[in-house]
Amino acid sequence: MSEPTSAIIVIGSNIQKERNIPEAVRLLRRAPGVIVDRVSRIFESPSVDGPPDAPDFFNAAVLLHTDLDIDELRAVAHSVEDELGRVRTADPNAPRTADVDVVYYGEMAEDREGKPIPDPGALEAAHVALPIADVAPEWIHPVDGRTTLEIAEQIDNDGVRPIMAIHLSSPYSPRRPDDFDDVSDVYAPRLEALIRQQLIELGEDPDREGLDRTPLRVAKALDYLTSGYSTSVEEVVNDAIFDAEGAEEMVLLRDIEFYSMCEHHMLPFFGTAAIAYLPKGKIIGLSKIARVLDVFARRLQVQERLTNQVAGALEDILDPHGVAVVLEGRHLCMMMRGVQKQESAMITSAMRGTFKDNPRTRSEFLELIRD
Ligand code: ZN
Repeated sequence: MSEPTSAIIVIGSNIQKERNIPEAVRLLRRAPGVIVDRVSRIFESPSVDGPPDAPDFFNAAVLLHTDLDIDELRAVAHSVEDELGRVRTADPNAPRTADVDVVYYGEMAEDREGKPIPDPGALEAAHVALPIADVAPEWIHPVDGRTTLEIAEQIDNDGVRPIMAIHLSSPYSPRRPDDFDDVSDVYAPRLEALIRQQLIELGEDPDREGLDRTPLRVAKALDYLTSGYSTSVEEVVNDAIFDAEGAEEMVLLRDIEFYSMCEHHMLPFFGTAAIAYLPKGKIIGLSKIARVLDVFARRLQVQERLTNQVAGALEDILDPHGVAVVLEGRHLCMMMRGVQKQESAMITSAMRGTFKDNPRTRSEFLELIRD
């Protein structure tokens, strides 16, 4: 144990990186003696030294303070790597689930057991320097004397770029952020600050008991409710498409719950969906249909577009004879503001292919989804 010291850790991953980066941050947050102050955006960087087909890396920097000494902090970093299943090999360019490296430790500048602090990557590697400048631009390199921002501005950026849309609480993470009250100290500092400001604008006292952790909770909730931005149909469907020669009968899933937020008021709308397709040699796992719906529902939406996007995505991945999507939604922006009758539901539909062209197919579908 020692005096509280600020430190910067950089995380890198090119295996299941969408999961491993957020999970590494979460594990750091939970480590005893470590308080995470801020997390950078996630940066994507081409694999520089590996084989030509090596997957790109994601990198993120974490600013923290700790009463652990440097060796104890490095042990924490190692344990996070271990927990994420990293197998250390002699090949430094082998794909890895997570690299977790202490790059800066206060103003320390020394070679500790053959591993210098600061890590040389702070000056030499864009995938280290850029995330650090994002999370701690004023931090001064104790030997070089420049700020991390100056270093980042002067380094060859090697194609490293921030990916704004990656969220740190993807619902497809191995452990979902089920409990928004499971508070850590800081989650999304810029968003939290904005929500705090919003409370003030509303005439509230953000420091009163009951509200003091609200910005954190709202940030987590919003992050989750908009997590569709951080995933894609390809990722969700993955390998769940099967060849099914001769399967020509309608596949229908109905009463699928969905929850979304209207883009005009950022208030929820929610309801049920019925989704059908007529296969042409390819079928998809049933549970995946609901997840495709979620990819588009967990964004700011209008119901018409949501309906069309789901239909379009199924057309793209299955190339079926036809697709039909019907959504029935209740919109809190109408219900709570008394704009319309509170019980009113909005129904939207998208009919493609056979469902559009053949009235018999369409009426068979409509018959099947009728209560
Ligand atoms: Zn609305």
